[in-house]
Formats: sequence, C-alpha cells, structure tokens
Amino acid sequence: MSLNTQARPTSRPAEVDVLILGAGFAGLTAARELTQRGLSVRILEARDRIGGRTWYADGLGRRLELGGTWVHWTQPYVWAELARYGIGTVPSPAPAVAHWWEDGGPRSGDPLELLARLDEPNRRLTAEARTVFPEPFHPLTQAALVEATDHETVADRIAALDLPPGDRALLETFWTLNVNGSIDAAAYTQALRWVALTNGDWAINFEACASYKVDGGTARLARAIADDTDAELWFGAAVEFLVHDDDAVRVTTADGTTHVARHAISTLPLAALTRVRMTPELPQAMRDAVHEGQAGLGAKVWFRLEGVTEPFVAFGEKDWPLNFFQGEYPDGDGIIVIGFGPDASAIDPTDAAAIERVIGRLIPGARVTAVRAHDWVSDPFAGETWPMHRPGYLTHALPGFHAGAGRLRFAGSDYAHGWGGFIDGAIESGLVEARRILTEHADAGVRLLAVSA
Ligand SMILES: Cc1cc2nc3c(=O)[nH]c(=O)nc-3n(C[C@H](O)[C@H](O)[C@H](O)COP(=O)(O)OP(=O)(O)OC[C@H]3O[C@@H](n4cnc5c(N)ncnc54)[C@H](O)[C@@H]3O)c2cc1C
Repeated sequence: MSLNTQARPTSRPAEVDVLILGAGFAGLTAARELTQRGLSVRILEARDRIGGRTWYADGLGRRLELGGTWVHWTQPYVWAELARYGIGTVPSPAPAVAHWWEDGGPRSGDPLELLARLDEPNRRLTAEARTVFPEPFHPLTQAALVEATDHETVADRIAALDLPPGDRALLETFWTLNVNGSIDAAAYTQALRWVALTNGDWAINFEACASYKVDGGTARLARAIADDTDAELWFGAAVEFLVHDDDAVRVTTADGTTHVARHAISTLPLAALTRVRMTPELPQAMRDAVHEGQAGLGAKVWFRLEGVTEPFVAFGEKDWPLNFFQGEYPDGDGIIVIGFGPDASAIDPTDAAAIERVIGRLIPGARVTAVRAHDWVSDPFAGETWPMHRPGYLTHALPGFHAGAGRLRFAGSDYAHGWGGFIDGAIESGLVEARRILTEHADAGVRLLAVSA
C-alpha cells in the first residue's frame, strides 16, 4: 500500500479508476480485490489510521480492542481472511461465576445456570428466525414475511412473550447488550437475522459475539489486508462533498482537494453519511435511514477491577448505564473487565467512580482503579457502534444501499447482506461491491472491443 500522508498542495490529484471512502475492513478488502485485478484505487480516510471501528490500542498496561473484537467460524468471510493470512484466534476466558440482578438485588451463580435461564425465552423469541430468513445471506428471499415483521421492535416481541418478570428482565438486558442500544429502537428482524446466521441457535450466536479474538488483534488482520494492495492511502482526508453521475464521481475533502474516479465505494458508517453532502441526493428512503441512524448508540469501556481475580460474566438491568460485564484478563490482584451499556451519553467512560458505582451493585466492594475507552457515538467518523438496524431499515433502505446510485456504491457492515454489524459483514460487502465494479469494468472493455472491431 502506498501511503500519501504529506500535505497536499494539489487541488486535483491524478484520476483513478476507483475511489474508496474509508479504510475500515470494508474499504481495505475492496481495495485489495480491485488493485489485485489491475484497477487503480485511492482510499480517502478521515483518520490517521486504518481499521475504522476496530482499534487495537494501548491501555491499562496492555493492548486492548476498543471497538470490534470477536470473530467466529460461523462468520465465513472473516474466517477465510484469517486462514488466508495465517492468523489464529485466542479464546476469551470461560467465566468461573455469573452475577446478575433480580428482584431488586444481586445474585450470583454458575454461568451455565444463567445461560439456562436465558434458553427458553430466547428460543421462543427467535423461533421464527429460519422461517423469516431461510437464507440469511439473502435476507429478502421471504420479502412478504420480512415486510410483515419489519415494523416491530425487539421490545415489542419480548413483551408479547408474556414471561415471568425475572425472565423478562433477563431477556431484555440480554438483547440490550446485543443491540448496544435501546431494544425499543431496534428492529426485531435484526434479532431474527442474527440468530438465522447461526442456524437458528441463539446460544451459538452469543458464543459468536463474545468468545474468540483475533490473535495479535484486529489491527493485525487489517494490516495484512492493507499490505496486500498497492492502493494509494490518503490519511486525514475527510470527505465532505460528493458529486456523481453516469460517467464519474467527484469527491471533495475538507482541505478542498477534489478527487475524480470512474467509480466510488463509500464505506462510511450510516451515521457518518450525515456529514457528506451529495449531488444528486440519495433517494428519500436512504436519506431517511441516514437521518434516523442505527440503534447501536451505546458504550464499550475497559476498566481494571481490584478485589476480583476470577473471570466472570455479569448482567445488570437493561437501563443501567452499563448492563453487561465480562472479566477478560486477570491482572495481579484484580482483573481487566469489558463493560457495555446501551447509551453512550449515560456514562462518562473516563469516570472510574461512575463505573465503580454500576459494577458495585453486582459485585459490592470491588474497586475500579483505571479505565480506557473510546466514545464511538461522539466520534464524527463513526457516530454509532455496531450497526443494529431500526424498524423498516431492512425492507425500505437496505435494498437502495445494495443497488447503489449511479457510479456510487455502498459497502460496510451497515450494508452487509449477511453479518450486518460485524467485521464479517464489512469484509463480505467489500468483496461484493468490488466484484460488481470489476464486472462492470470487464463489460465496458468488451463493449469497447466490439465497437472498435
Ligand atoms: C464498540 C464496538 C464493538 C464491536 N464489537 C464487535 C465484535 O466483537 N465483533 C464484530 O465482528 N464486530 C464488532 N463491532 C462492529 C465492527 O467493528 C464493525 O461493524 C466493522 O469494523 C465496520 O467496518 P466497516 O469497514 O464497515 O466500517 P468502519 O470500520 O467504520 O470504516 C469506515 C471508515 O470510514 C472512515 N470515515 C468516516 N467518515 C469519513 C469521511 N467523511 N471521510 C473519509 N473517511 C471517513 C472512518 O474513519 C473509518 O475508518 C464492534 C464495533 C464497535 C464500535
């Protein structure tokens, strides 16, 4: 990959075949596919690093995944990339104990007991997964069924199960974790889609979400893909304006530079599209989706907890500022813990005392001695965490993003066909959109040959 990080005096750099907006997993994958087949590619990345919503950074005396982390063999695209580059996985530790909140107080027990409590309610909630999504990588094969369900929220469907209060509270907090946001804002179809991707098994889905990490960190995989392309990579290139027609795409970045290409792939998160003006504007349904954003607006924080040394798993209630905890790395007389919460604005991720107050409800007396986090929701180049769709997104907006607009295409985990919201979906959509451009290119070549013959 050739890096172009110097100050850029030119207002009109050389034209390329394809501009890629964003150097996360979708952008890097698309760049590799296109350059390896001979197309010239320039990636415009607003930040000064690759990886996007994955970020393997220093913190708490080690390296920590501040964003996307876990991968699984049920995720075919990321698994293939790991095999391609000879990168393994490392397991998160099996929890020795579970803590949860019930009837107004803390409870502790065997993690299997907690899983067992979640089993039947989850089976009932997701029983239709394979009926509505028989082919999860083609989510609209049963369009009528999806349409009939896509207006409902996860909260609606949990309420309809009419569970005993304790089971209902546990199921609500479990899905609040999965949404990383409010279950009142999250589409029920997204819950079904997730579970359909693990053959209808919610427990395997949970395993896929929080069990196996990339050995050497997500940055290692992102770097391996980046090293496999000779695309130009421009850091500090925040796209602000985009004009597209049937012939070309013109993209202007914050410093006034305009880049021109025959095609462009935007891999910007849905929320980050609010900052890009487009001419012509996107169709109304897509603009509405950009305006509404995703439901994943929560927090992920790392902290060191003193007084606990055994790996544990813990659930608070759905509206706590942090409602899920996983003890990840034993650390002397403490343990380094990941916490998730549904609303990034409800917790200051740098405030150890605030975090201690929440975890202290479940593990009284434990002390938080250090914290590390990134606020993805306030980050202008993310604006969301993992993309959990709102009601209607799947049926009304996603087909438009898949179709693209003229020479502009959309890739990224917000627009994936399969594992939407995951690294896998980002890679999948990068492959799909690169292939479509390659096919168009090849067709154009054939047409030119036919004209000149
Ligand atoms: C806290 C958290 C935890 C997660 N946990 C997991 C997990 O355990 N497992 C999993 O599989 N997934 C997880 N995810 C989701 C996963 O990280 C993302 O879905 C995936 O990395 C998205 O890749 P992408 O290429 O689609 O988008 P991104 O990674 O967001 O890449 C888009 C790129 O576009 C750039 N950009 C934005 N705006 C502009 C602009 N105007 N101009 C130029 N560049 C711009 C951004 O800087 C970014 O680099 C998590 C995400 C978060 C935030």
